[in-house]
Amino acid sequence: MTRPESEKRDLRNFKTRGIVLKTFKLGEADKIITLITEAEGKIAAVAKGIRRTKSRFGARLEPFTNLNLIFYKGRNLSTITSADIIKVYDGVTGELDRIDYGYAMLELVDKLSVEGQSDPRIYNMLAKSLDLLSRTDNGKRLVLSTFDIKLLAFSGFLPNINECTGCSSKTGLTDFSFTQGGILCKRCADSDPSSVNINGDTIELMRSLLLTPFKGLKDVKTDTATLGELNNIIDKHISYHLSIRLRVRDFIDRQASKESSKQRI
Ligand SMILES: [Zn+2]
Repeated sequence: MTRPESEKRDLRNFKTRGIVLKTFKLGEADKIITLITEAEGKIAAVAKGIRRTKSRFGARLEPFTNLNLIFYKGRNLSTITSADIIKVYDGVTGELDRIDYGYAMLELVDKLSVEGQSDPRIYNMLAKSLDLLSRTDNGKRLVLSTFDIKLLAFSGFLPNINECTGCSSKTGLTDFSFTQGGILCKRCADSDPSSVNINGDTIELMRSLLLTPFKGLKDVKTDTATLGELNNIIDKHISYHLSIRLRVRDFIDRQASKESSKQRI
């Protein structure tokens, strides 16, 4: 049975919420907007005429903006036909230091998400993380690390932090292997040249950030050294397994190594 013409047209329009990850110019007046959406996962769509001064989109389709959107599904690319702001995370964009942490989140979502695969948890977690990042003063690295660990878990890239990746031992865990993607006991580490030392506190922190909801982060107790080690290992794990360098992270790491303050939400 063929569908009536009106119904076919309807199927080409879809609504969902989404956060802008990045944009780039297309032709004279258009832009391609990449978003992580709640219902459809990552989408790259055209915003027509957006660079004209009288565009109906104004400055709404910029990174760190959460929107209600309507798309029209084209043969290749979809087009954004309507965009209404839910929230602008201006606490993130308003500060040079904080914006780097925000871009690190957007970049990781972009690299880990594949168009056509939907996972509403990623949109929801990014919204929560940006909201918390825009309010915290001393907890920026803690928010970013929590975000990283949860996103790696959603995407199937979380390192093994439960037991020795080599022999399944639950005790004597002293190292982390980038090639095996997880923690190791001393004996297994001796035969893995890619392994580095990891503190018991750092392993405990990884486990606890994976399970702690964002609203519970204020009760997480940690120190700069432990969080620094966690950041370092997670960043290297990401670049090893995803074969990408996340440029924003290198900058944050250089900055953070100069900090000595305790991390608090
Ligand atoms: Zn082992």
